[in-house]
Amino acid sequence: MRLLLTVLLALATVAAGPAPPQASRTKALVGGTLVDGFAGSPIQNSVILIDGDKIAAVGQVGSLAVPAGAEIISTEGMTVLPGLWDMHVHTMIVGHADYDHWDKAYMPQFESVIMPAAAKQLLMAGVTSARDLGGPLEASIAVRDRINAGKIPGSTLYVSGPFIQHEPYPNTEAYRWGVKGPDDGRAKVKKIADAGVDVVKLIDQDQMTMDEVRAVVDEAHKRGKPVVAHSHRPEEIRRGLTAGVDCFEHTGLATAPAYPDDIIAAIRERTAKMSQGPLFWTPTIEGLLNYEYLRDNPEALDDPAWHEGLPEAIVTDIRKSLEHSDRLPYFQLTAARRPTLAHKFKQLREAGVVQLIGTDSGIPMNFHSHSTWRELDAWVNVLGVDPMTALRAATYWPSVAMKVDSKVGTVSAGKYADIIAVRGDVLRYISLLQRVDVIVKHGIRFK
Ligand SMILES: [Zn+2]
Repeated sequence: MRLLLTVLLALATVAAGPAPPQASRTKALVGGTLVDGFAGSPIQNSVILIDGDKIAAVGQVGSLAVPAGAEIISTEGMTVLPGLWDMHVHTMIVGHADYDHWDKAYMPQFESVIMPAAAKQLLMAGVTSARDLGGPLEASIAVRDRINAGKIPGSTLYVSGPFIQHEPYPNTEAYRWGVKGPDDGRAKVKKIADAGVDVVKLIDQDQMTMDEVRAVVDEAHKRGKPVVAHSHRPEEIRRGLTAGVDCFEHTGLATAPAYPDDIIAAIRERTAKMSQGPLFWTPTIEGLLNYEYLRDNPEALDDPAWHEGLPEAIVTDIRKSLEHSDRLPYFQLTAARRPTLAHKFKQLREAGVVQLIGTDSGIPMNFHSHSTWRELDAWVNVLGVDPMTALRAATYWPSVAMKVDSKVGTVSAGKYADIIAVRGDVLRYISLLQRVDVIVKHGIRFK
């Protein structure tokens, strides 16, 4: 009865929004098979002790005792995992098909409504950490900090603030900052770094001078910020590699069947330099891969999970924008790109990059509530990646890429208690991740 009360209390406080007071400081997740994020075999009959917001101990039933008074959460029949990461999301968009209209209508609500809704949807999908690549500076920082302070529920966000690029497109100046010369590049990076961004996002660097690209990357590195670069065009990749970008985004090159030889050779040269650490790449496959499927089988678009946190009028507007999903300009080339994705993904793998799970979540039809598990499903069931590698690309490796692997990314003593549990064998059936049963973030149970 007391356990039931505790659960009800926890649910009630979570529903109300802010961080609930802890019913019990110590929690124990008991019984499930633990995939801890390291590469070893899963741990059967696992016991995870949580003290406050951290993991105190990890062991097995019979050898690790649960302290008296601990709140016990049974994970029998479940796979227990580190909370997932999504390394490429956009919290300022939530699936609407028309970006111009979206910005005009909703930019004043990005900070108060849209970004919090996106962050909450991600969290309730089991994504306890997400990298938000492109948004207005103050809003990005404010939403991240409100989540970190426990004022609103959401994934721990690692934010870039504005895109750094040659020139903003018309009416996007609030979240795209142009660079005019190397000094200006350094100044812009200094400004966002001083404001507290976690990462710097470069885009259209093929339109910048090489001196500008170098200035941006060097200044970011000087301030300890990793640099992430858009890589849809060959010259974006070439320049990014030359300047020392840490992580590339997307599987680009439009409908081209393969990456050119010189680019693969340059990637190989970089990945061979192990002292520089891994070269990361977030291929963002699922939004493109699933477009035709969702166009023809739209039931998933009716799932109310993506309405979470959004006012009815905005939900209606988004639905209307997706009414004719066969006619969206955003997806004009997608059907022709889809058959090229698997080969390019494989080329990158073989060139030695460490690929990360990321989704471009927020683009048309691609809701934060569903994108991350679909990327994992695409890797395992379409691209032939083994499930353990795919899961580590959504847990361990992202924490390394963001230089926080001493704090999160694995279920091990001393880390933040970011843990999910899913009924069934996730290593055998990866798409079970579409329905996560238990979500704990920083020791607080959200589901
Ligand atoms: Zn993106």
